[in-house]
Amino acid sequence: MRIGELLKKGHFSISFEFFPPKTPEGEEELFQTIRSLQDLQPTFVSVTYGAGGSTRDRTRRVVERIHKETNLTVMAHLTCIAHSREELLEILREYRDMGIQNILALRGDLPKDDFRKPDGGCSYAHELVSLIRENFGDWFSVGVASYPEGHPESPNMEWEIRFFKKKVEAGSDFSITQMFFENRYYFEFLELCQKAGINIPIVPGIMPITNFRQVQKFASMCGATIPQSLIERLEPYAENPEETLKIGVEFAVEQCLDLIENGVPGLHFYTLNKSRATLLVYEGIKGALKA
Ligand code: FAD
Repeated sequence: MRIGELLKKGHFSISFEFFPPKTPEGEEELFQTIRSLQDLQPTFVSVTYGAGGSTRDRTRRVVERIHKETNLTVMAHLTCIAHSREELLEILREYRDMGIQNILALRGDLPKDDFRKPDGGCSYAHELVSLIRENFGDWFSVGVASYPEGHPESPNMEWEIRFFKKKVEAGSDFSITQMFFENRYYFEFLELCQKAGINIPIVPGIMPITNFRQVQKFASMCGATIPQSLIERLEPYAENPEETLKIGVEFAVEQCLDLIENGVPGLHFYTLNKSRATLLVYEGIKGALKA
């Protein structure tokens, strides 16, 4: 099932993102999480990819297991920065031969050390989108990342939109956003996209907070603003996981209800391979989904 086509038809998408665990025990826990979230009948689930290609085999294995062992539609993330053109084509051919039809085409974070792009590789995500379209036509639905508050390397939103548009023109058919905690950033971003003639569905990425210090770290790395009022609610309970979960879920439910009311095409949950927070948020919004 191609995600872009479903979204185009107006299907409201619910999706869950996982990362490929490092150990067999971690993988078993992940499959328990997947089984408990499967009952919610998500539109799709996705599996992340290490920027340096470090998770190549693990991502492929988890994608293949989900595809074969469950009835879920799965999207494989693929980052291009550390791969040669031939390696990228090989990975994509493997997915095609497995029957996978959805790819999230990413550049990945730039490696910190002296870095030389592999010969014939891609420097940016739009080049990976073009590579996919040139070699696989419409077999894959191709999603790309977007950044309502701007990517940390983008000097301003004009730059952000200019290069986001390049990914759309290269043939991506939907986008998932970086996590954000203030919906106004998402709505302002949509307005900029509309003005720039970008019309693909842009699905908000939601991170239910379960660990205050961890989310502070993630947010500062990816440039997402945590509102001061939320920091003040969470900080006193930084060492209290149950209270943090309660506040995090309450906040995510309010955030999602506002997004649904304002007509978003779907919701993509960053699960961190755990089901509890996502299940609780779903419980809080399911009435609005059916309305
Ligand atoms: P790009 O779209 O290529 O953009 C990167 C920067 O370069 C931006 O500032 C852009 O404006 C600029 N730019 C783009 N094209 C040009 C050009 N031609 N000339 C000059 N500047 C240009 N990372 C992982 O490692 N694995 C994952 O699985 C993963 N999944 C993600 C899922 C989602 C939904 C999101 C939002 C992010 C994910 N990331 C993942 C993080 C992502 O890889 C990083 O944010 C990375 O730094 C940028 O990737 P990109 O695909 O957005 O890059």
